[in-house]
Amino acid sequence: TSVFSNVQTAPSIEVFALTEQFKKDSNPNKVNLTVGAYRTEECKPWVLPVVKTVEAQLAADDTLDKEYLPVTGLPDFCASAVAVCFGEGHPVLLSQRADGIQALGGTGALRLGYDFLRCILGRDTIYVSKPTWGNHKGIAQQCGYPNVREYRYWLASGRCLDEQGMLEDLTAAPEGSVIVLHGVAHNPTGCDPTPEQWEKILAVIKQRNLFPLIDLAYQGFASGDLDRDGRVPRLFADHNMEFFVAQSFSKNFGLYNERVGNLAIVTQSAEITGRVKSQVRNIIRKTWSNPPSHGARVVATVLRNPALAAEWRENIKRMAERIVLMRQMLFQKLRALGTPGNWQHITDQIGMFSYTGLSAAQAEYLRTNYAIYIMSDGRINMSGLTSKTVDRVAQAMHEAVTK
Ligand code: PMP
Repeated sequence: TSVFSNVQTAPSIEVFALTEQFKKDSNPNKVNLTVGAYRTEECKPWVLPVVKTVEAQLAADDTLDKEYLPVTGLPDFCASAVAVCFGEGHPVLLSQRADGIQALGGTGALRLGYDFLRCILGRDTIYVSKPTWGNHKGIAQQCGYPNVREYRYWLASGRCLDEQGMLEDLTAAPEGSVIVLHGVAHNPTGCDPTPEQWEKILAVIKQRNLFPLIDLAYQGFASGDLDRDGRVPRLFADHNMEFFVAQSFSKNFGLYNERVGNLAIVTQSAEITGRVKSQVRNIIRKTWSNPPSHGARVVATVLRNPALAAEWRENIKRMAERIVLMRQMLFQKLRALGTPGNWQHITDQIGMFSYTGLSAAQAEYLRTNYAIYIMSDGRINMSGLTSKTVDRVAQAMHEAVTK
């Protein structure tokens, strides 16, 4: 008998399982609204024009080789990543209290942050929002956190932030707990705290001595403006907090499969930041040893060149604007159909996703009757819609709700 006889097949990962099922679906009008990747008006993946330009330059550059990068990543990349997060010239940058560490996507950055806090600081309790991106809990379990807890976030009845619940749960969290926050464009709800609510959240975190880990996977996707979408890490920095930011360049650079992320560290002094970075360096050495260079080089090249950086900002704006347009079209169509319910949340929510409020049964109805694929929690990728498919999707949603 095999040593593996008792190994059970692991549960499938919903988002990828649905995408596989979608690929096999023979319906010519099928629509995939599951995976969180940007699609154009033609419903195609988009390699950003600025990325293509830089990739051509890099391919022609004979000075580049395939030597290992430093363990903590390409220095130009790390420096430009933190500058995107906090804005050029921010005091945490000038004082060198902030520094960056290249990671394998936003996921890798979260993993490094979690690992450091667990293994080096000995933190044993971590809180994620309810609901949240599934991996927030999964990574915590993988890192061996004994206590993985949730703070209230979404008030289903009002389709809005459960401000009181969130503040109560944070207030009750044991001192030193790690609090994972969505810096912008909350996944899956698309509902972010207001600036006033962020002030309150920050005050509790400070007062209760909690450690904030800000997940910034959608900077630029919410408003089309990197500075506006960077307000939360800047707020924490302006209040002299110590915290981490897990940055992803998967979405805002469209570099999903290049695995480009950065862990930004902010502490009270440049000297402490250096010590923390050295510990994270040794975690990396034992985890993936060295980071890949291509995606980081693309990002660094764009960010170091003002003309290319301006072009990138335009590319982001284009993606964000198309998503906003799709929100408006879906909302208007549901209104026109007289679909029961208040669908205002579709246009109120921000970022790539809409948390429609559709149930798992309604999601299944859309899939089996219309070949429209959405997540079982009702989350849809707005950029998966186009002006050609939005009517059919709205019609199907209408039927799912009224049948
Ligand atoms: N955080 C959130 C909230 C996300 O939605 C994602 C991507 N789905 C990530 C982090 C990680 O992104 P990646 O590892 O692909 O860069």
